[in-house]
Amino acid sequence: MSLLKNSLKIFLCISILISCQNEELLFENAICIQNINTIDPSDGLKKNQTVIIKNGKIHKIVATDSLNLSGKNTIVDGTGKYLIPGLWDAHVHFAYIEEMAPSMFDLFLTHGITSVRDTGGKVDFVKGWKDKALANPTDAPRVMMAGPLLDGEPNVYDGSDAAHPELSVGLATVEDVTSQIEMLVSKNVDLLKAYEMLTPEQFEQIMALAKKNRLKVTGHVPLSMDAITASNLGLNSIEHMRNLEISCASNAEELWEQRKKLLKNEKNLTGGELRSSIHTAQREIAIANYDEERANKVLATLKKNDTWQIPTQALNTFFTRKYFARNDWQESYALLPDTIGQDWLDNSKALANAETPKAKEAWNQWNYMMVKKIHDTGIPIMAGTDTPIAFLTPGLSLHEELAVLVEDVGLSTLDALKAATINPAKYFSLHNELGSVKENMWADLVILDANPLENIKNTTKIYAVIKQGKLHDKDMLNARIQKLKN
Ligand SMILES: [Zn+2]
Repeated sequence: MSLLKNSLKIFLCISILISCQNEELLFENAICIQNINTIDPSDGLKKNQTVIIKNGKIHKIVATDSLNLSGKNTIVDGTGKYLIPGLWDAHVHFAYIEEMAPSMFDLFLTHGITSVRDTGGKVDFVKGWKDKALANPTDAPRVMMAGPLLDGEPNVYDGSDAAHPELSVGLATVEDVTSQIEMLVSKNVDLLKAYEMLTPEQFEQIMALAKKNRLKVTGHVPLSMDAITASNLGLNSIEHMRNLEISCASNAEELWEQRKKLLKNEKNLTGGELRSSIHTAQREIAIANYDEERANKVLATLKKNDTWQIPTQALNTFFTRKYFARNDWQESYALLPDTIGQDWLDNSKALANAETPKAKEAWNQWNYMMVKKIHDTGIPIMAGTDTPIAFLTPGLSLHEELAVLVEDVGLSTLDALKAATINPAKYFSLHNELGSVKENMWADLVILDANPLENIKNTTKIYAVIKQGKLHDKDMLNARIQKLKN
């Protein structure tokens, strides 16, 4: 009897040993980040976790002391470090400065940005970069693209000067809208972008075709429409809060009458000139006549319709915060192609000394107030920059956006992280694959040397980046940065 008992004991021990070995074997050739503090946008901070990455995905997350790791894995000591999901810049333009595009993958990845949303440019040019990213998923950020800005006539980004490269198509009729979207659908765009010179009829057609093709539409509210109407027609998101100020003004009716006249374009201005002349004539007045009750009504509509916001606060406060005047900012120009870096440096220095017009201060305050109000209303926000417009260095500018959202707008650090991780993933219905530090997600991750929940600027303290399961350690990131500098 005791012999049988002993045999049973030995058998059990062997079984346990085998199963332990199997458990270790499962983790061979994995990346094991040991003893790290994880920050999931929904669940927050968890201390002392070990994260196992295999086959491009987060295979397992366990408490560090519950796991014995085999030496046949790549082990990263995460002690004292923080793991966040890979970041998104939800508003970029590969086609704004075409010579810049070849540097953008490296700039994004070395700054912890593992996904971007391109919000407008020549479709074949942007698709070229999207295809390159798809062919190199462990070395390039994921690219989601809108194709060109769908604009009316005269179109704003018409290629007439360096500040208005040909990012848009000028569509004369509703039929033009239809044929353009059919073409874009054939190129597999991920969303559509509506722009400021569209007529209401053209905008309605965009919304109808987007619905038919199950595409989201982002945009600037067209100058011919108010935000409530655009939102009620199903606009999924608004960039820069563009044209929101007029709908929130007590004298909106008067401004609409004036706008209708201005839109007749009697002076035959270019699209760019016409658009900025209208904003110059009306924005300042609209803000001075801000009406809380109207604003509440507008935001309640956006909330009801789930119209998200990409408030681009670093860009919107360009004239007041003047990030481009800072030494650390100007140093980032060394990462850009030579001629562009020098040009940005010269222009940044010239603009740094220019006096800030009073109206820009009011615009600044309206922005911070409005973004906080949008957030408090429960409307989702995505962090986007508009890089490489306005000396916004690709990559670095996303960290600036996060800093403004926390330090000036007043979002919590966790909410700012959400805006650059889980929210963009949700926007594209990718939240079951991306944007969280959870098992079975794609391993798009950033390891930080310090806690971003304590100080959002710690998102710049990057120790390593993981893209779809590939570890880009400090040496690899530095090599990429050196390559950009040479
Ligand atoms: Zn843009």
